[in-house]
Parts: sequence; C-alpha cells; structure tokens
Amino acid sequence: MTRRIRMAVPNKGRLKEPSTALLRQAGLVFEQTDRALSVPVRNVDLELLFVRTEDVCEMVADGVAELGITGLDLLTETGADLEVISELNYGRCRLTAAVPNASPVRELAEFDGLRVATSHPRTTAAFFEKEGVAVTTIALRGSVEVAPKLDVADAIVDLVSSGSTMKVNGLRPVANLLESQAVLISPHDVNGEVGALVAQMATMLTAVVAARRKRYVLMNAPAAALDVIENIIPGFDAPSVVTLAHDPDKVAIHSVVDANDVWTVLPKLKEAGASGILVLPIQQLIA
Ligand code: AMP
Repeated sequence: MTRRIRMAVPNKGRLKEPSTALLRQAGLVFEQTDRALSVPVRNVDLELLFVRTEDVCEMVADGVAELGITGLDLLTETGADLEVISELNYGRCRLTAAVPNASPVRELAEFDGLRVATSHPRTTAAFFEKEGVAVTTIALRGSVEVAPKLDVADAIVDLVSSGSTMKVNGLRPVANLLESQAVLISPHDVNGEVGALVAQMATMLTAVVAARRKRYVLMNAPAAALDVIENIIPGFDAPSVVTLAHDPDKVAIHSVVDANDVWTVLPKLKEAGASGILVLPIQQLIA
C-alpha cells in the first residue's frame, strides 16, 4: 500500500484562506472543520495537518509532515534547513525597518545603538550584524508597531504589505530586510516512494500558481491577419491555428496570454480583425 504523506497548512490567519483555495483548485477533495487538526484528502494519499502558520516549518523539519505551506519570512526566521519547492504568489509582504516620523534616523547606519522591536528577532539580528550595525533586538509576538509609542523600542522591524498600518502608527520605513510570500516547503532529503508523492504534489500546486498568471484566449480571425495576430499573442511556442469548416478565409486561433496583458492585448486583436474573442481562466498549467 502507498504510504500516505502529510502536508502542514495554516489553520488561521492571513495564509489560511488562500492556502485552502490553492489546494482545492489543485483538485484535492477534503472537508475542513474548525476543529480537526488532521484531515484526510479523499482522492489523494495525502493528509492535511491544519496548524498555526508559525508551526509549519517545525512540523516539516521534525518529519511530522513532508510538505508545508508557510511564509518565507517564517522559514527564514526559524532558520530551518528546508527546501523551498515553489513560490505560491500570495501572502506577499516585506520585512521592513521603520522609525517614528519624528526620528532623525534616515538610513540604516543610523540604527546604531537603537532598540529594535520585532517579531522576527533572528532575521533582524542577522541582518543588522551583516550590515555591521549594532542594535538591541527586542522580541515581541505582536503589536510591534506600538512599541516606539510605549518607549519599549526606538525602531521596529515588521511585516508590511500596503504600508497603511505603519502610516497609521506614525512610522516611517527606512529599509527592507526581506521580500516574502507564501511558499511550499519540504525537507531536502525526501526520496523513494515518499519523494515521488512529494514531487507529484509540488507539480500539481505549481501548475495552479502558473495557471493563475495566464488566460486562455480564443478568437476567429481572417486568415490574412494571422501574421499580425501572431505578433500580438505569441503563445508558449506559437498559437494553435485551426481552419474554420465553412469559411476557408477564416481561422480559429487559440493562445495563452499573461493575465496582466489581457487588457492591452484585446483591443489590438480586435483592431487586427479578430472577432468572437473569448478569454477563459486556466485551472492548471504545466509548461
Ligand atoms: P498570520 O499571523 O497567521 O496572519 O500570518 C502571518 C503571515 O502572513 C506572515 O508570516 C507573512 O508570511 C504573511 N503576511 C502577508 N502579509 C502580511 C502582513 N501585512 N502582515 C503580517 N503578515 C503578513
């Protein structure tokens, strides 16, 4: 019998919903309750372990799970020697050093001698040491941004996505330590049967991430416009071109376009003579 593998997945917080959505889009069928820690996947030999985002690295490092989804910032912070199999393109944020608006500090070197509050003490200490700047790190689990107001610290290092929380708390960013996003992780040394299952899962999840950045575009066009249209949408290798059954002067063209480019590409296609243009989402994509 095939050995069932385990994947540690965030059970709350910012990465919970997008991680569950990713697993479902990859075709995994499971029921999620608020209480169950361990949930079997019905159609794959996989068990999902719903744990705190910050515990995912430990679960994988300890061999409890062969795969995990967590933030790159947390992997860096734990210092666990694990492999990042795939970047998942959500949960994007940056670890940023900031000071109160009134502070005279404008650059990193001026952090010398400051008390820096952070929930990422290890990453912060390593960063400033590498920069040759002596700081005292103050480890806090939350509410890092209020530490300067309470005179617990002179500066902070905290996660930022839009930057509005820092602004509201009267803080000014000075430098970025790390760019983070959700990642799929596993130990380096999984091989054999388990390794094959881990690779399979990685392929399926990576295919969803790749697909989200693309759209499938179909259209009809005059055969004479094919060259112009091929230049607008090159596709992976080249677009697929099919002659229409009852109109030899027209072709159907299928191609894959970057999701970000769709709005600039469509008017150009129309101008080139394309009609009946359809834009479809792609479920999974393996290039
Ligand atoms: P949680 O504390 O469970 O909501 O998850 C925190 C994780 O979400 C962090 O470790 C990051 O990987 C990710 N994240 C993405 N954007 C942000 C943000 N603006 N603030 C904090 N965490 C973020």
